[in-house]
Amino acid sequence: MSTIAAISTPNAAGGIGIVKISGPNAIAVADRIFACVGSKTLSELPGYSVRFGHVHDGDNMLDQAVAIVYRAPKSYTGEDVVELQCHGGLSLMQQILRLALSSGAVCAEPGEFTKRAFLNGKMDLSEAESVMTLISAHGKQATDAAFNVLSGSLSKEIESVADVFIGASAHMSAWVDYPDDEIEDLDFSKLLKEFKEAREKLVALIDKFDAGQAITEGIETAIVGKPNVGKSTLMNLLLGRERSIVTEVAGTTRDVVEETARIGNVVLRLSDTAGIRNSEDLVESIGIEYAKTKLSHSTLILAVVDGSTPLSNEDFEILKQCEGKPSICIINKADKGLVVDELEVKEYVTSTLSLSAKDPSSFESLSTLLAEILGTANFDSSAAMLLNERQLSCCTRAVDCIAEAINAIEQGLTMDAINVCVDGAIAPLLELTGKRVSDAVVNEVFSKFCVGK
Ligand code: GDP
Repeated sequence: MSTIAAISTPNAAGGIGIVKISGPNAIAVADRIFACVGSKTLSELPGYSVRFGHVHDGDNMLDQAVAIVYRAPKSYTGEDVVELQCHGGLSLMQQILRLALSSGAVCAEPGEFTKRAFLNGKMDLSEAESVMTLISAHGKQATDAAFNVLSGSLSKEIESVADVFIGASAHMSAWVDYPDDEIEDLDFSKLLKEFKEAREKLVALIDKFDAGQAITEGIETAIVGKPNVGKSTLMNLLLGRERSIVTEVAGTTRDVVEETARIGNVVLRLSDTAGIRNSEDLVESIGIEYAKTKLSHSTLILAVVDGSTPLSNEDFEILKQCEGKPSICIINKADKGLVVDELEVKEYVTSTLSLSAKDPSSFESLSTLLAEILGTANFDSSAAMLLNERQLSCCTRAVDCIAEAINAIEQGLTMDAINVCVDGAIAPLLELTGKRVSDAVVNEVFSKFCVGK
């Protein structure tokens, strides 16, 4: 196993910067570039030791620093680790990293520290994924939720479900393989009950997924509508500042501007679009095409209409595109007096809201409605939750196989047939926690991490 090194703090100047070294030669590498004040070397120290000293390149001192020594297996990665806490200048950190690399370490890949923690059994795959969610989470509920998964809430839930099927599979295999032995008969009604309870647990996780995503990752949101209905103004209301250019001239917002806004406990990934309409103008057309693409990729749509004038065909064209998606029709410019009735637009969208985007107090009513629509109003961030599409797909595949197993029992099929479904349910559950997972999946998971984590 190689010894790896990376800058673990952000790629920017800061009070302190950390260069992390992990692997069998981590302490030897650190000893080559760090001299403790006093006589001891880091190699002479037990784990969990801290020493003040100097980072040096032979005779040339680079910085004063603090070294923390961890010894395997009691470290984040489960390997020997040294963290050099230096002054957080970017150039300085890069020089210190280069020193470590020229002294026997190799550059860590994205997420490699956490990958090693997973491979060394310090955490399972869902816990490792929660590290990334925790780092990128916005807001208290998001960090709480990610931390609970890191602490094992999801792993425990999934293991409790997997255990049901592993137990059943073992029992059925024994029964099939050793028919002459005195193996207790399977109680199929008990099994059926256990399978249904297990399925309920997974379905509950799946049902919570979208709300959890809205809180931890943010929800891809498109603001659509004709020119001049108040899309930019709405975006500014959500962001709490002037971001898009608001103007009386139709079609001024040409580019899709992307921002994230936290509304209550929900993060909206907003794109302010050029509006959906036919246009002769080339630049405008590009913006509109982009907006259409954006709309098809968005999970939530805020469709804005000017409520102070009657709706046009164009408005209805846009509203039609919302059908089947979580969407809110914002009937804007309520301060001017509304001529548009909510009933006119209701059939196309999930919900409607009359407001004035110019009035800051509209934020509150939109926030409440969003929480209602996205199911985040009573979200329990202390309970287990699925953090990403990979975990969701594992759960969905398991639920499908459980349904087949239940069906097989109810139809009175052979034990072999039931067992095939049961094994089918076990596989994605073990993939979720990483107990039985391919290298390709592991590599894919960690490739999304940042370097130094
Ligand atoms: P967009 O083209 O859809 O992005 O529309 P803008 O946000 O640029 O707004 C167009 C015009 O409508 C601007 O003059 C805004 O000030 C005005 N406007 C937007 N929202 C409201 C509102 O709630 N009430 C009133 N009276 N005017 C609004």
